[in-house]
Amino acid sequence: MTRFNDYKVLITGSARGIGFAIAERFAASGATVLIMDISAEAVQTAVKKLTDSGFIAFGYSGNVTDSAAMEELFAKIIRDHGKLDCLINNAGITRDNLLLRMKEEEWSAVLDINLKGSFICTQKAFKVMMKQRFGSIINIASVIGIMGNAGQANYAASKGGLIAFTKSCAKEFASRNVRVNAVAPGFIVTEMTATLPEAVTAEYAKVIPLSRMGSPDDVARLCVFLASDDSSYITGQTIAVDGGLTMH
Ligand code: NAP
Repeated sequence: MTRFNDYKVLITGSARGIGFAIAERFAASGATVLIMDISAEAVQTAVKKLTDSGFIAFGYSGNVTDSAAMEELFAKIIRDHGKLDCLINNAGITRDNLLLRMKEEEWSAVLDINLKGSFICTQKAFKVMMKQRFGSIINIASVIGIMGNAGQANYAASKGGLIAFTKSCAKEFASRNVRVNAVAPGFIVTEMTATLPEAVTAEYAKVIPLSRMGSPDDVARLCVFLASDDSSYITGQTIAVDGGLTMH
């Protein structure tokens, strides 16, 4: 099992859901986990859960779309911890609607948080990592960014964009020993998908070769691999954690 030593990982949107599962898995692997989310209260609760279990965790609140606030936040992280080994761009939202009914606000909110937020945080993190000559950036995309989905044109565009963004950053950052990869979860059981009617999830399960939804920890274990030296020759890739739903 991977053991991190003096390893600092910042995970956006990690007060709950997949982000929190990623935080738990890194913490259990010995990393110092920096929880970041929009609600200060949710951040505090998440950090307490980890520290009560004997793990090393610190909390930061902020909005990934606020460039000035993120500048401050990354500066504070470096003041507090001296370095940043890994950034996981996980904060994300959905605002589903059929394209003909989609409001511009629904389009913009999703593109802003899922794509522009990842751009902002990646830029701030790379400034630190290029000086360190070390780093791993992991973008949480989605299978929807690979195969599209009716009613999710905004979300698909944001995640497809994130996959293309991942490849460009991987090419730009490689000479500084900073790797950038994307993880594309399929149907994972979280609050985001809990609202789906049972009939819909049963239909999804039928088309998943492994015949079940995934767990947040399925995603977290891949992130640990992509952050560790075990993946030191892997960059620019998008790896699906989807029970075989997408194959290419
Ligand atoms: P989630 O449970 O809704 O968690 C997302 C977290 O991000 C929430 O705590 C949310 O805070 C926070 N957040 C939202 N906007 C933010 C902002 N502007 N700045 C900082 N934090 C913000 O979602 P999830 O299901 O764990 O999904 C996590 C990631 O995996 C997302 O990128 C999602 O697209 C991706 N994904 C999920 C699935 C799935 O099946 N669940 C599948 C594929 C990909 P608030 O709720 O307080 O706003």
